[in-house]
Amino acid sequence: MILHWFRRDLRIEDNPALAAACRESGGRVVPVFILSDWRGAHPWTGPARQSALCGSLRALSEELEKIGSRLILRRGDAVEELERLLAETRAEALYFNRSLDPAGRALETRVEAMARQLGVRVRSFHDVTALAPDAVLTQTGQPFRVFTPFSRAWVKLPVPAPDLRPFQPVPFAAKNRARSARSTLVQLPSLPLPTLADWGLDASSMRLPDFGEPAARRRMEAFFSGPVFRYAAERDLPAVDATSRLSVDLRWGTLSPRLLVQRCHAAIASAKSTALRDGPRKFLSELIWREFYMAILWHWPEVLEHEFQPRFRGMQWQQSGAKFQRWGEGTTGFPIVDAGMRQLAATGWMHNRVRMIVAMFLTKDLHLDWRLGEAFFMQHLADGEIASNNGGWQWSAGTGADAAPYFRIQNPWTQSARFDPEGDYIQRWVPELREVPARALARPPAAGKSLAPGYPPALINHAQEREIALALYRRVSS
Ligand SMILES: Cc1cc2nc3c(=O)[nH]c(=O)nc-3n(C[C@H](O)[C@H](O)[C@H](O)COP(=O)(O)OP(=O)(O)OC[C@H]3O[C@@H](n4cnc5c(N)ncnc54)[C@H](O)[C@@H]3O)c2cc1C
Repeated sequence: MILHWFRRDLRIEDNPALAAACRESGGRVVPVFILSDWRGAHPWTGPARQSALCGSLRALSEELEKIGSRLILRRGDAVEELERLLAETRAEALYFNRSLDPAGRALETRVEAMARQLGVRVRSFHDVTALAPDAVLTQTGQPFRVFTPFSRAWVKLPVPAPDLRPFQPVPFAAKNRARSARSTLVQLPSLPLPTLADWGLDASSMRLPDFGEPAARRRMEAFFSGPVFRYAAERDLPAVDATSRLSVDLRWGTLSPRLLVQRCHAAIASAKSTALRDGPRKFLSELIWREFYMAILWHWPEVLEHEFQPRFRGMQWQQSGAKFQRWGEGTTGFPIVDAGMRQLAATGWMHNRVRMIVAMFLTKDLHLDWRLGEAFFMQHLADGEIASNNGGWQWSAGTGADAAPYFRIQNPWTQSARFDPEGDYIQRWVPELREVPARALARPPAAGKSLAPGYPPALINHAQEREIALALYRRVSS
C-alpha cells in the first residue's frame, strides 16, 4: 500500500506521483491531504484563497469517491500527521509531488527524514511546471535571469506528454475485503471537509468561480473552444473577458501544466491563419512567464525576502499607513487603480494589466514597500501564487529579474486611456463613476477636486510622485 500525499496537486488526471503510486501498488493507494493548522494566524489567510482550497478539496474528494476511493483528511503538522498515517496504514511507501518554494522544500526534507527513520520508501516527482526549473539552463549550465533567452531555451525542450490514463484504485468490491485498500480507507479516521467557517471567514458577498478539477476542465475547454484565438488581441483589455482564468487551477493543481501546453500546441496547429495562431502562441508565452518565475524562485529563493537585483536592496520604502489603507480599499481617487482593487475584493481575481497598474502605483506613486502589496495580494487572490506574485511585484517595482526598468513609470491616467478607453471596466467596479464621461476618467481632475460626488479626490499628484520615485531609485542604483 502506498500513501499519496496531496499538496498543490489537487487533481486525479496527469498527476505523476498519484499515477506512479497507483501503478506500483496495484491500485492500493491511500490519498491524503493534511490541512495546516495555521488557521487564521497566517497573513495569507483570506476568503478567496481559502474558498479555492475548500472547493478544490471538495471536488477532489467527490472525484475520488466516484472511482471507489476516499480522501483522508487530517489537520496539523504534516510530518507528525504523515507519521501517524504511515503507522495506521502500515503503508510501505510515501509518494508526493515536489514543491518549488522554500517552505515546501523544507517540509519535504523533514518528511523524508521522518520516513527514512521509519524505513518507509519515499518517492517524489516534478509536477508544478511543465519543465523542471533545473532543466532550463544556459549553455554553460547556469539559470537564466532574463525571460527572452529562458523562453527560447524552454521552447526547444520537449515537454512530457500528459498522462491521461484514468486513475484506477482497487475496486470497492475487492475479493479479500479484510485486506483491501478500500477497507483500510473506509476505516481510517478522516476529518470532515474544511469550510470557510473553520477560519472564521465569509465569502458570501463575493463572486467566486467554481473550484476543483471538473470546473478547471470546463474552463479550459471553454477557453480553447474559441477565446484562445482572440487572446493576443484582447488579453490586455480588462473590460473584455478575454483571458483564461486558469491561474487558480494552476495554483491549486486542479489542471496539469503539461496538458495546457499540449492544448496550446494543438490550437497552434489547428489555426488557419497567422493571426489566429498568434492567440495560442501568446498564451503559451504567458505560461512560460509562469515557468520563468518558478525557476527564479527555485534558483534564488532569497527573492521572497530581498530585491532580486542587489543594487536595490538599500531602497527606502515607506511602510504601511493611511496611503496603504486607501490603496487596499480602492479609494485612491485614481479610477483604474480603485477599479482593480475593488475587482480583487469582489472576485478574488484581478486582470493582469490592472495588477501591473496597481502594483506600480503602490511602489512608484506611493513609494510603499512592494512586500506590502505582495502580501496583500497573497491574502486576497484566489490564485495567489508565491513565485508569480513575487515576480509580478518585483517586475512592477523595477527590482526583479527582467523587471521593468526603474525609470519606466506608468502613468495611471494614460494607462486608463489606452486599456480602458470607454471606461467600461472602471464603471463596472466603481459605481460612483458611472455617470462620468469616459474621457474624464482618464484625466486627473484639478487638485483637490473629485471626479464625482462620493468619489475621493486623487490621493497624490502623479507627476510629482514620479520625480520623487526617480530620485529614490537613482540614489541607490548609481
Ligand atoms: C503584481 C502582480 C502579481 C501577480 N500575482 C500572481 C499570482 O499571485 N498568481 C498568478 O498565478 N499570477 C500572478 N500574476 C500574473 C498574472 O497577472 C496572472 O497569472 C493572470 O492575471 C491570471 O489570469 P488568467 O489565468 O486569466 O491569465 P491568462 O492571461 O489567461 O494567462 C494564462 C496563464 O499564464 C500565466 N501567466 C499569465 N501572465 C503571467 C505573468 N505575468 N506572470 C506569471 N504567469 C503568468 C498564468 O498561469 C495564467 O493563468 C501577477 C502579476 C502581477 C503584475
